[in-house]
Amino acid sequence: MDNGDRSKREPVEVICPKCRYVEIIYFPVEDLPLCPVCQTRMSIQELLDEGKSY
Ligand SMILES: [Zn+2]
Repeated sequence: MDNGDRSKREPVEVICPKCRYVEIIYFPVEDLPLCPVCQTRMSIQELLDEGKSY
């Protein structure tokens, strides 16, 4: 097992432009996922920054 902190993954919200299906993926990823509903390539909606201080 190799769980180094250097490869910490980042949660990203992706959304289907067609049916608005939303899913959380973890960067880095090789490819953006396809929507499980309509098989459309999903696009990044928002970066979820855990350390956000607002
Ligand atoms: Zn869809």
